Amino acid sequence: MDTKHTIDYVSEINRIKKEKNAVILAHYYQTGDIQDIADFVGDSLALSRKAASNNADIILFAGVRFMAETAKILSPGKKVLLPDMNAGCSLADSCSAEDFSRFIEENPGRTVVTYVNTNIEVKVLSDIICTSSNAIQIIESLPADEKILFGPDRNLGNYIINKTGRDIVVWNGACHVHEEFSLEGILKLKQESPEAKVIVHPECELPVRMVADYIGSTAALLKFTQKDNSDSYIVGTEPGIIHQMKKENPGKKFIPVPPKDSTCGCNECSFMKLITIEKIYKCLRDEIPEIMIDYDILEKARKPIIRMMEISAKPGL
Ligand code: SF4
Repeated sequence: MDTKHTIDYVSEINRIKKEKNAVILAHYYQTGDIQDIADFVGDSLALSRKAASNNADIILFAGVRFMAETAKILSPGKKVLLPDMNAGCSLADSCSAEDFSRFIEENPGRTVVTYVNTNIEVKVLSDIICTSSNAIQIIESLPADEKILFGPDRNLGNYIINKTGRDIVVWNGACHVHEEFSLEGILKLKQESPEAKVIVHPECELPVRMVADYIGSTAALLKFTQKDNSDSYIVGTEPGIIHQMKKENPGKKFIPVPPKDSTCGCNECSFMKLITIEKIYKCLRDEIPEIMIDYDILEKARKPIIRMMEISAKPGL
């Protein structure tokens, strides 16, 4: 039987959510229909906070695996579901625990700060985790003469060095989506719409960051479009965020930055887009796939995440 056309997924998801006391946390890079059925939509930092402070029995994570793992680490007593276990992350996969451990050994005496976009074994090796929303504040919370090792994103790492002037060695990893944004594409869009402001994520390469009017995390970009008085923006991050930007700013225009290869559509995160409404329905119904983490690993990975949460809970963050 073709169930696709016989089930009203949205009604069923809402019914099962209520019945099972479940919440759906969705990242800004999910498709608009998923963002609209979620109980909470946010970036990695906001979703971590939400995962740590809700009364649900089940968290369904509409995002990628490292995010669902972070939710499980922060809510170990809850069942955490990820509708597709293949929803990985090219940035996390650019940094294996084995290679990162060697990198730490080669650079002794440094505080290890890693981006939340890492696999759990890399979190275990870290002193503090950060997200793109709080990376600068986390680094600046450390004593000025502290030597730091940062991974895995080289673009975010270099952005932090430029902003803080700190002594930081950076792991050479990258997100395939944010490195795909085309500088030529931005310049062409700017010629067509000179009034549009260029807003980009710090995971973008330096030439793209250099032409930006504003650089910030996904949540910061959204906030910027709400406070700023321009009418149009050229958006250099995963275009899923444009759904929220349009909802929050109905009169404004948002233009996604195209990829370098105009035929590939690779300015979208293919991992994020593995999650669909149908998979969410089945996952909630059957309560699989579930995130399972060995207790010892979970406890070790929890410490650097809690340190981040404590620092970023301070006023102004
Ligand atoms: S957009 Fe990049 S960093 Fe974010 S989940 Fe996708 S591959 Fe990972």
